[in-house]
Amino acid sequence: MAEPKYEPASFEVTPDGLHIVWKDGLDSVLPHRYLRGNCGCAECVDETTRVRHVSVDNVAPDVRIEDTLEIGRYALGLLFSDLHQTGIYPFKRLRDLVQE
Ligand SMILES: [Zn+2]
Repeated sequence: MAEPKYEPASFEVTPDGLHIVWKDGLDSVLPHRYLRGNCGCAECVDETTRVRHVSVDNVAPDVRIEDTLEIGRYALGLLFSDLHQTGIYPFKRLRDLVQE
């Protein structure tokens, strides 16, 4: 069982970004472009060296989340308007991306 801190009670895509209410009560919004620029997939981050090839500066200012896919109970897959869809965002990582 994950810590409540790392489990979303609810989430939805809003004009501002991905809105997540966490089970510990934190209400957060992760902006679209910020999430796209922090994608952890092999296309965006070299799997061996961990060097990031795609960051917030490399993605369009108006990039948007088009769709979400729940992956088991641990992650979200995000489809972006630039057709990037290989990114899997574990809930723990999403929570770590929240700038509290
Ligand atoms: Zn990626």
